[in-house]
Amino acid sequence: SLEASAAPLGRVIAVANQKGGVGKTTTAVNLATALAACEKRVLVLDLDPQGNASTGFGIDRRYRKTGSYQVLTGAAPVADAAVGTEVPGLFVVTSSVDLAGAEFELVDEDGREQKLREALEKQPLPYDYILIDCPPSLGLLTLNALVAADAVLVPLQCEFYALEGLGHLLRTVERVKKSFNPDLAIQGIVLTMYDKRNNLSDLVASDVREHMGDLVYQAMIPRNVRVSEAPSHGKPVLIYDLKSPGSQAYLNLAREVLKQEEEWAAA
Ligand code: ADP
Ligand code: MG
Repeated sequence: SLEASAAPLGRVIAVANQKGGVGKTTTAVNLATALAACEKRVLVLDLDPQGNASTGFGIDRRYRKTGSYQVLTGAAPVADAAVGTEVPGLFVVTSSVDLAGAEFELVDEDGREQKLREALEKQPLPYDYILIDCPPSLGLLTLNALVAADAVLVPLQCEFYALEGLGHLLRTVERVKKSFNPDLAIQGIVLTMYDKRNNLSDLVASDVREHMGDLVYQAMIPRNVRVSEAPSHGKPVLIYDLKSPGSQAYLNLAREVLKQEEEWAAA
């Protein structure tokens, strides 16, 4: 009904980049944790069949029976699929391998790119932020995320071809805006795996800043072994080692995201 679709919905942010291994999942998990630490209510929606975000929160496969596949296909409402984490105020819709099949199952359906948006708009949801962890492709799953989202947040690894991949992603965002979601914004670009001892890292960072200007967050996520260890303990790095440089960088990123919200509200 009209009333239901007008329900207040938190800000939906798709964490996307068609390249694998650039820090999407790490950013979704840890930005979400940092936002929760700032007393926001946050949902991470794991839209990658590999389920790394679900694993990163230490959610056992037994609790993954109802997840993003069921949400996407309309079999379960978000409220039934969301499970709690050890972080207060932070919830996850897990993914399972079923999700890989969703791309094929939906391909002949009308409005196949609208499924996630419909699922999120069906009921009021008690979250300030919904972060969608996208798979490493620009297929139907990522398309659903971009159609459902208010904005896209792009993790960009500080490596040689970073800008090339970014161009492709930004053109996709433009196409999604034209066809399905005119209000889709770029939330921002976050540089990941930054290594200050590596000249190339610096070169890429300044190159990206020069081309993308204010879209690039001041916070850069350093390459940090604590960040890469945390998922094997089933914990966000902020829980695993709050004092680590990676945790501090994600807290800074969260503060910038919250500041953006204040600035937009004032505008
Ligand atoms: P994506 O979701 O884009 O495929 P991930 O977030 O899974 O990328 O990151 C890829 C790999 O790099 C993972 O093993 C992750 O632990 C590691 N990684 C991500 N960010 C960092 C970082 N800041 N420092 C060290 N390792 C990182
Ligand atoms: Mg991932």
